[in-house]
Amino acid sequence: MLYLCATPIGNLEDMTFRAIKILREVNLIAAEDTRRTRKLLTHFEIHTPMIRFDENCKESVGEKILQRLLAGESVAVVSDAGLPAISDPGADLVKLAIDNGIKICPIPGANAALSALICSGLDTSKFLFAGFAPKTKKNRREFLQKLSASEETIIFYEAPHRLKIFMEELAEIFGDRQAVLARELTKIHEEFLRGKISELIKNLGEPRGEFVVLIEGKKFSEPPPEENLSDFYKKLLEQGLDKKSAMREAAKKFNVSRRDIYNKLIKEEI
Ligand code: SAM
Repeated sequence: MLYLCATPIGNLEDMTFRAIKILREVNLIAAEDTRRTRKLLTHFEIHTPMIRFDENCKESVGEKILQRLLAGESVAVVSDAGLPAISDPGADLVKLAIDNGIKICPIPGANAALSALICSGLDTSKFLFAGFAPKTKKNRREFLQKLSASEETIIFYEAPHRLKIFMEELAEIFGDRQAVLARELTKIHEEFLRGKISELIKNLGEPRGEFVVLIEGKKFSEPPPEENLSDFYKKLLEQGLDKKSAMREAAKKFNVSRRDIYNKLIKEEI
């Protein structure tokens, strides 16, 4: 049996009884970061042997794990936090195990995306988990453009040092929709920041900690997808507006400061 075992995303008390039991009983624990997981295992007095299983070694170690599963042993996969295989290693191993007739068993528990969604106040009846957006600007913009047509609530993961730029891109591509930043879930500084994207950007300061970003889906009554800021600015110039007025109009439309627009257009050499 291959167990996919949830671990806490901050608060150790979110470890489940069943997770502790399974982690004690299996022959092997495959962990994304053995040092981090060692602390968790020590805390819960779990003495099961561990093997490193991360993005870099997932193929070679995946094969070793498969051999042990085929030999009749049981293995539990854990990530650094939350559910394995959700923006974390695990999915490839699940496929490999299924292809080889191994049974898979979930040990549910903490997950950042769903914890954020249920407290967001946004529509929870239909949602789309988008995980981390691509890092390169071109791919990220394409990714966001596609998502902007979605009518479901969209859930992203993002690192704090990229958060501000990411939110600015969201504002540009999605328009000034209602959004939520769920920060440091289950930890001491847990907070939910709710509002229009532009308001959240204004109050963001220097983002610290871990964030889930949620944005409302496209409304049926919304006009066709917004052109992006640069295209809008170029169109105004073509219509004969001088640069200063075009910048002022673009700032108004996209609800950002003229200085932000200036910096962006300089970067894009427009
Ligand atoms: N597997 C995990 C899960 O089930 O939620 C997600 C792991 S992913 C590598 C890490 C990202 O999840 C972080 O960058 C952040 O966006 C989000 N995250 C994880 N823990 C969080 C927390 N306590 N509060 C807010 N976001 C969190």
